[in-house]
Amino acid sequence: MLLSIYGIELDVPKEYFVSITKGSLYFKGDLEISDHFKHTVTVFWDDLDEFKKVYSSPEDFFKEKVEAIENDRDLVGIKTEILNWPGTDSNHPAHFHKIAYSTKKRFTKELHHCIIGLIAFCETWNRRYLLFNEYYNNENSFEDNALKILGSFRCRCNKEGD
Ligand SMILES: [Zn+2]
Repeated sequence: MLLSIYGIELDVPKEYFVSITKGSLYFKGDLEISDHFKHTVTVFWDDLDEFKKVYSSPEDFFKEKVEAIENDRDLVGIKTEILNWPGTDSNHPAHFHKIAYSTKKRFTKELHHCIIGLIAFCETWNRRYLLFNEYYNNENSFEDNALKILGSFRCRCNKEGD
């Protein structure tokens, strides 16, 4: 099922819930897509100029996120994977990735985290998009769905005349 709102397009399975945060606008907002087991894909959009004051490229955002994890004193291991987002073009630079890492505090068992994230800029509409799914403890039954939903994301600026 094609979900299309505020120029954001996503292919969402029919039985999933879609909830748009109250107060969302074309300029800034967020929505959540989830299944019956509360696996969630979150989509944020916001002003690109504001975002560029901090991160000049989608890759910068990814690098800083990885650095923050690497600086965690409880980090046991981290593995990153760069994925391919078919929506990339000259107006839509993007970074699609998977970050899996484990942490362990003294006297506790090791925790596993995984983030599948897509950060994309739209130079035409001056928006930036952030989509992600986060899960813990290797519960990755939802991963394929998350990859499909994130991979299906498109900015509609190419398709609209105005
Ligand atoms: Zn666009």
